[in-house]
Amino acid sequence: MKAEHENVLIIGSGIGGLSIAIILAGLGYEVTVLEKNRAPGGLLRSYTRDGIECAVGVHYLGSLDKGQVLRKFFDYLGVTDDIAVSRMGENGIIDRYLFDSPATHPAHFDMPPGFDAYEANLLQAFPAEAESIDRIVTDLRKSADVLHGLDILHAKGGDFSLLDQSLPYGEFLDELGCSPGLRSVLALASSWIGVPVSDCPGYYHNMALASYLSSSWRLKQSGTAMVDVLVNRLEKIGGRIICGAEIDKIEVDARVVKGLHLCSGEYLGGSMVVGAVHPGVVLQMLPDGAVKPSYHNRIRKLQNTHSVLSVHVRVDAKVHPEIPHNIFKVETDEKGNIPDLKYYQLRSSERDNYSLLSILTSGSDGLWLPWQESVSGRRGTEYGDMKKRHADNLIREAEGIFGPLSGLKVLDSYSPLTLRDWVNTPEGSAYGVLRSSSQTLATAMLNRTAVKGLYLAGQNVLAPGVIGTIMGSFSTVKLILGPREFQRQICL
Ligand SMILES: Cc1cc2nc3c(=O)[nH]c(=O)nc-3n(C[C@H](O)[C@H](O)[C@H](O)COP(=O)(O)OP(=O)(O)OC[C@H]3O[C@@H](n4cnc5c(N)ncnc54)[C@H](O)[C@@H]3O)c2cc1C
Repeated sequence: MKAEHENVLIIGSGIGGLSIAIILAGLGYEVTVLEKNRAPGGLLRSYTRDGIECAVGVHYLGSLDKGQVLRKFFDYLGVTDDIAVSRMGENGIIDRYLFDSPATHPAHFDMPPGFDAYEANLLQAFPAEAESIDRIVTDLRKSADVLHGLDILHAKGGDFSLLDQSLPYGEFLDELGCSPGLRSVLALASSWIGVPVSDCPGYYHNMALASYLSSSWRLKQSGTAMVDVLVNRLEKIGGRIICGAEIDKIEVDARVVKGLHLCSGEYLGGSMVVGAVHPGVVLQMLPDGAVKPSYHNRIRKLQNTHSVLSVHVRVDAKVHPEIPHNIFKVETDEKGNIPDLKYYQLRSSERDNYSLLSILTSGSDGLWLPWQESVSGRRGTEYGDMKKRHADNLIREAEGIFGPLSGLKVLDSYSPLTLRDWVNTPEGSAYGVLRSSSQTLATAMLNRTAVKGLYLAGQNVLAPGVIGTIMGSFSTVKLILGPREFQRQICL
């Protein structure tokens, strides 16, 4: 395929849209990214309150060591040297899990960096389950090799080296006869990406966990600074980005894509369109009859991950200095499943005397239904009161962990509706389509559409997270180029 003068229009400037834009621009395509918001970055972008940068969709990154998957991606995109990160786990802890079921669970479990250290911590917490732990960590090591070796991108046809890890992870743990405590410790990885362990494909769970065990990193600067690096890189190699450009419709003629209609009434012609947004959003942009009813139904019926509720508070840095690891407060049932969890990150901020405490939990999505027809900033006082009640409860619970929060000031809280309106994700879904075992077939090959020249990218095509989303961009480029050209042109 000849790239020169091929005009690609990309809908959405999250990490999905920006990464595929950089790859295609590097291959010689003429690339334009169209973003509905006034600023680029989607979930990656942080926002400023009181001079402090509040993160949305990137709290930590996995696998940035040399030879590891995200490092390979950043190197290819040409951004490694410009995205400043600090290594987590120097104190032996990346994540600390807190439990409140003393009969079945340890008071806390620390996820350290590295597979040996993880195995040692598991054995120390669950000495009677050595045989199961050996099997669990063997699978994790294998999935790390597959992840860093980029087997997903290089596999031919249906060849996938982790097929032996296809069983829902909960069933695998049942077969091993794991205790509720061990089950919860392991289940956290899939709960964090919105898939219940009982319905999470084993390889998906293992790759998510392995990506952080391999090495974990915090951004030294803000999410917005990371977006700036990506945008600068894109512009340097000839791509362009237009913000405030909401796409209304995709123009299709005889099942061939022709261009995009913006909500402003403007029209842009293009020989290729990549929708780096939820597939359901792309579907709404297509004219009737552009895709087969079977594809339409498949996308329409897709179940999505839940949303999140978050609060950012400013606290006195002297009393609450940065904690270099994440903290999860984990709710468990008697079997060791995780109905809910709270995530805490306490880190230094842009202002000398203050630290930023960020709290995240699942969105209790149904609660916000009364305001679902409203838009951000115009939801009324009852909505504000409801958000405040939830934020206050989250802060009170946090004080059970961090002690009374000195110098506390609430900077902001956001609900599933905020997320929905910010990035146009259905019902505010945090991680897009639910990659559950029950939906394995329905979520396969989501980047391919029946319209010639129309492709999908973003967190929905393969997996969420910065790694999963960039992997999705490469897999869409493989589809565009064909496997042979992909191997020839993309050197990862
Ligand atoms: C609360 C939260 C915490 C997270 N924490 C982490 C983490 O610590 N580490 C990690 O690796 N991952 C994390 N993730 C996941 C990660 O942020 C996402 O998987 C990833 O950012 C998704 O990128 P995307 O490009 O697919 O989507 P998005 O970032 O949602 O980008 C889509 C873009 O398309 C734009 N758009 C939508 N509709 C239109 C339209 N009609 N016209 C034009 N533009 C449009 C949107 O405005 C948006 O900018 C987190 C996610 C959430 C929600």
